[in-house]
Amino acid sequence: MTRGLKSLDDCKRIVVKIGSALLVDRQTGLKKAWLDAICADIAELKARGVEVLVVSSGAIALGRTVLGLPSGALKLEESQAAAAVGQIALARDWSQSLSQHDIVAGQILLTLGDTEERRRYLNARATLQQLLKLGAIPIINENDTVATTEIRYGDNDRLAARVATMAGAELLVLLSDIDGLYTAPPHLDPDARFLARIEEITPEIEAMAGGAASELSRGGMRTKIDAGKIATGAGCAMIIASGKPLHPLKAIREGAHHSWFAPSGTPVTARKTWIAGQLQPAGELHVDAGAQTALRSGKSLLPAGVRQVIGHFSRGDTVAVIGTEGREIARGLAGYDADEAGRIAGRKSGEIEAILGYAGRAAMVHRDDLVLTEITRKTDSELRQQKDATHA
Ligand code: GLU
Repeated sequence: MTRGLKSLDDCKRIVVKIGSALLVDRQTGLKKAWLDAICADIAELKARGVEVLVVSSGAIALGRTVLGLPSGALKLEESQAAAAVGQIALARDWSQSLSQHDIVAGQILLTLGDTEERRRYLNARATLQQLLKLGAIPIINENDTVATTEIRYGDNDRLAARVATMAGAELLVLLSDIDGLYTAPPHLDPDARFLARIEEITPEIEAMAGGAASELSRGGMRTKIDAGKIATGAGCAMIIASGKPLHPLKAIREGAHHSWFAPSGTPVTARKTWIAGQLQPAGELHVDAGAQTALRSGKSLLPAGVRQVIGHFSRGDTVAVIGTEGREIARGLAGYDADEAGRIAGRKSGEIEAILGYAGRAAMVHRDDLVLTEITRKTDSELRQQKDATHA
């Protein structure tokens, strides 16, 4: 391992994300020897007191093999059907393989809403905690059978990062056929340099990840860097390593080549972490210059500074705060439902009772529920590209 870094053995809790190509061969189906080997690695870590959560892809790949679907891009409903067939097999295989080490597996299928909506998030988190407490290994995947285009992650890299922050893990390990981050795609550029340690995900680092064109596999480097932003921003380190050899976790412990992304040192409370990590805020509050300055100096967002309210959200939902230049400057939990927010926008806090008929909160978003963000939003075409890549 790189100098000064915690080894896998020193972590209390880690999340391991496994890409489809590692587990499933398009012709022959499950790669049982590989699965058995990683289960042995997991058992070894567990015996050393490390709690392991697994985010396993492979449902769609396995299902399409079982169903004998032709190669090429699948339609959404075909991948959903493939996932329905594949997930049963995948869960059984994990369960059988772990049972050789007397370890119980628990299947968790998550949708985007389960990680983004506060109540459901807390629910999912409680189940994960309970499974770990009982000594079981959570085997997690996206609930592909019900997740439709607008409401799905589509890639398990970002899902795994959300799981890592949800579970308060110290380390996220992304295993796929990519062994780490290079300055340029190594198959295209002979001068590409390997980066062993990334202190911060800067715009330069993001540029190295490129777009969909540089993707080597489903997920690709782009979603891995997005995952890195979610994880490291919440104080969770991330490793990108090749999962191709048998016993990949053991290999990392013994010093195999990988890229390490340092966690951000900023201590954020779990609540603020969760707010900042929301992928799909339920609405937008557009604010004026005065409110923007107030927010930046740590104040609450008052109704008076809100110029426009967009979206259908309820009190407690996450909303994006949009500054005077049209960019997101903060995220927070709405103190009012969208229609009430619209009615009191631009008005003084003292007028709220007269307008709504009851004395509500003075703030539209309280400072304890607010976190300043500078998240670059994905454009619609980027989101579409990502979805297409997922169905390939
Ligand atoms: N959830 C998908 C599956 O299990 C995989 C998504 C991904 O590979 O990132 O097939």
